[in-house]
Amino acid sequence: MRQLATKHNWIGGQWVPSSNGETREVRNPSNTDEVVGVVAWSTEKEIAAAAEAAQEALPAWKKLAGPARARILAKAAQILAGRLEEVATLLSREQGKPIGEARGEVQRGVDLLQYYAGEGWRSVGDVIPSASADTLMFTVREPLGVVAVITPWNFPVAIPLWKSAPALIYGNTVVLKPAADAPLTALAIAEVFAEAGMPPGVFNVVTGPGSKLGDALINHEAVKAVTFTGSNAVGSHIAQLAAARGIKYQLEMGGKNAAIVLADADLDKAADIVVSGAMRFAGQKCTATSRAIVERKVIDAFAEKVVERVRALPVRPATDEEAYLGPVVNQSQREKILQYIETGKGEGRLVAGGGTPQGELYAKGYFVEPTVFVDVLPDATIAQEEIFGPVLALIPAESPEHAIEIANGVRYGLSASLFTNDLTAALRYIREIEVGMVRVNAETAGVELQAPFGGYKASSSYSREQGRAAIEFFTQVKTVAIMPAGGP
Ligand code: NAD
Repeated sequence: MRQLATKHNWIGGQWVPSSNGETREVRNPSNTDEVVGVVAWSTEKEIAAAAEAAQEALPAWKKLAGPARARILAKAAQILAGRLEEVATLLSREQGKPIGEARGEVQRGVDLLQYYAGEGWRSVGDVIPSASADTLMFTVREPLGVVAVITPWNFPVAIPLWKSAPALIYGNTVVLKPAADAPLTALAIAEVFAEAGMPPGVFNVVTGPGSKLGDALINHEAVKAVTFTGSNAVGSHIAQLAAARGIKYQLEMGGKNAAIVLADADLDKAADIVVSGAMRFAGQKCTATSRAIVERKVIDAFAEKVVERVRALPVRPATDEEAYLGPVVNQSQREKILQYIETGKGEGRLVAGGGTPQGELYAKGYFVEPTVFVDVLPDATIAQEEIFGPVLALIPAESPEHAIEIANGVRYGLSASLFTNDLTAALRYIREIEVGMVRVNAETAGVELQAPFGGYKASSSYSREQGRAAIEFFTQVKTVAIMPAGGP
């Protein structure tokens, strides 16, 4: 078999191997016989080198005019667009996202780069009327310094870019530590920035073991902020490290997103959208629909429609154009999901899926059948905990108010949707639902990059990403007052 060349870390504008020479294979979760690539399995030394390179690059990058930084991001957008098919295929092979969605994600990356290139031309402060008529008072937003970007495996183009692009455009430098399950895509982003003319050290990527590298990065004295997306367990650990050092932090974490279906809803349309939200990318989106809370009088009819659709879903290797869902990302994730399904069998009635698909096509991948439970109680384990797999729980509700109460009865608060034609019910839901992203007659997953993204409760650290909200995290405000030298 052909030996694949190791992809090294991108540090200070150079490809740098791990100092201990260690590497790791990245295997295709659709077919684990296939080695997609080999990456450096780095140490704290490479983290320190990256943080120092970012620190060194900071003064010149910070000093550049916004439009000059914008030109580099715009160029990166153009280069990524030119590599869309190649990067989408890599992403699909590396972490099992169906190829159609992988293309959509790379296009999202292009759009994010374009959007934040535009930010380089926009205002970074306000003029404020002073109490003294001769005084010019204004604010200016300045970068924080070196920013640590720690990302999950599920959106390996979009999430690193929706964090790095705003960090960079506002004048920060970046060390990206991608998830161990999707390092190759992150290194492709480094190639794109390098080709776009990003000065050495402004953007760095170090691959390797999450906990060791993550901790070393947050604890490095050059790092002034950390932006994290991932699980709650790791997020709260990061918050503690960041608080102990007094650096700024931002956490986007888990979800247990509900779709509420009221009796007057178009049940066919709602079933299409709920199935899509629950099953696309095998439910591995933080905004995936994992509970459908349905008014009791229509729950049987709705369940029938959902089950009919779920049974017909094409489960395929991720690069197959037909794939609606592919595998889950790795063996431990599959075991965890199957364990939840076992628990669910004691908590509700299994009406679709419930195991692993059989046949040669699935023999070497981490596939899980799209699974549906009905008659689930709101406090069941599968109705409370984030499963992060293709598992949907249908929960009956006695009224629209009861449905909102159930939807709010979890620790998370990322996104929710409501299906109805009743404007009054929709307005009440918008007021009372405890989530950061509220949808009406739309999927819980699927957000737009120009709008704030983030959750309530345990889903977030009260911060928001994307759109104009990004400026809040990636900058600090300086208030300036200028008075005539001789006094008024
Ligand atoms: P994870 O928490 O296991 O890992 C996230 C990142 O943290 C990875 O880069 C990992 O290597 C790193 N890490 C692990 N241990 C660390 C430590 N001790 N210190 C510092 N960094 C460490 O999450 P995951 O399994 O990659 O992703 C799935 C999770 O991400 C789910 O809970 C999902 O809901 C969440 N997620 C949330 C959003 C959102 O925007 N709210 C988006 C996507 C995914």
